[in-house]
Amino acid sequence: MNKKIFIKTFGCQMNEYDTNRIFDIVREIGFVKTENLDESNCYLLNTCHIRDKAKEKVYHEIGRVKKNFRLRKKPIVIVAGCVAQAENEEMIKREPYIDIVIGPQAYHKINDKIEEFLSKQKKIDETEFDAITKFGYLDNIKNSSKKITSFLTIQEGCDKFCHFCVVPFTRGPEYSRPFKKILEEAENLSENGVREITLLGQNVNAYNYENYRLSDLILEIEKLDGIKRIRYTTSHPRDMTEDLINVYGVSKKLMPLVHLPVQSGSDKILKSMNRKHQISDYINTYEKLQKINPKIKFSSDFIIAYPGEDEKDFNETCDLIKKIEFINSFSFIFSPRPGTTAANFELIDKKISLTRLEKVQKQLFTNQINMNKSLEGKEIDVLVENKIDGGTKFFGRSEYMTSVIFDGNDLDMGNIIKVKINRSNQNTLFGKSLDNLEQRVA
Ligand code: SAM
Ligand code: SF4
Repeated sequence: MNKKIFIKTFGCQMNEYDTNRIFDIVREIGFVKTENLDESNCYLLNTCHIRDKAKEKVYHEIGRVKKNFRLRKKPIVIVAGCVAQAENEEMIKREPYIDIVIGPQAYHKINDKIEEFLSKQKKIDETEFDAITKFGYLDNIKNSSKKITSFLTIQEGCDKFCHFCVVPFTRGPEYSRPFKKILEEAENLSENGVREITLLGQNVNAYNYENYRLSDLILEIEKLDGIKRIRYTTSHPRDMTEDLINVYGVSKKLMPLVHLPVQSGSDKILKSMNRKHQISDYINTYEKLQKINPKIKFSSDFIIAYPGEDEKDFNETCDLIKKIEFINSFSFIFSPRPGTTAANFELIDKKISLTRLEKVQKQLFTNQINMNKSLEGKEIDVLVENKIDGGTKFFGRSEYMTSVIFDGNDLDMGNIIKVKINRSNQNTLFGKSLDNLEQRVA
């Protein structure tokens, strides 16, 4: 059999990382990736359960695949990720077109499950939490990512149980990968040509392996010559420890954008969310970081119209956005997640929720526009990622993760170059490269 897998990914960066790793695993039994659904004989959907109609979106997607293969032999259909974990065998009962359901902590078993399905033609549900074995297995398979920027999961799961969040139920308890194994994967990525690593975890700054912390990892990874930039996401305000804050004063490669989700500007709402941090702690962290490195900017996630949020609470969120001048942020209306504490709380009127979301987004977008405008006429550092527009222009990112589209000649992918910005909009900076040779990777 000519094994061709088509993979579709919903959701966060960790799902993107998982998708790549799933491919690294199925390659071992001869699968090649295809971007053409029609020619695939295995279809894998890596799902996300964090908000909204996640489950319905999955069934809708499977329905589309079913329709596509109506007149042909069906592919093996696999649902992976957090919806698979939350729904498990229910999925197969509701949509018998699905053959295998596999959770985010069990995908290292995917090859066995595919082979078992092929030999027995029996549906499979594999949703055990087994992060230790999963990473043990993955440590022996090379991460094949060859892009300029790559994710690297260092920590998974969560023990914090914020009242709105499904992650502790879908990803399981907090687990930190062995320090040495992460460094080996970083080294391997660097050898593959990766120049920017984003360290990932649901609570990435809670990383703790035999007393090694995230700060130790950053300082160790930056010793790799090939790696030019380091980022991490997503962090929790409670885990912004002194060692991590101080790393911003010494690291040469850690980027100055700190993504630190605050969720709300109101202490009352934070308490009801079970966040266990207060706004004064958050501002304190911001001020300490600013002192250490004034280039630092914050981005955040906001949940708008969380149950119990009144006008005063909402205005406190707006005030915080004004104070911190967040850029590159995400905001969502609260979405009740089955099984979480807040799923039983009384919802805020839809119209009020929407009005508040619009107001917050306007503020956040204005910050973004102002930040981008302030760079017009300036030279900034850009990591060159790829050519676009049929090879006439280049694409890269600023230190703050903003997309940059620019003209240039003979640029090497993976170099950090100077780009002079001549115009901007909310999401993109436009300019011209000034330097083709600077900071060439050895
Ligand atoms: N661990 C990170 C933290 O504690 O801030 C957040 C990780 S969570 C996977 C990503 C984001 O999804 C959250 O920061 C939150 O803003 C959003 N989110 C999670 N559950 C949500 C819900 N029920 N409704 C709306 N947004 C939600
Ligand atoms: Fe979810 Fe983050 Fe809270 Fe954990 S700390 S429960 S991942 S929001």
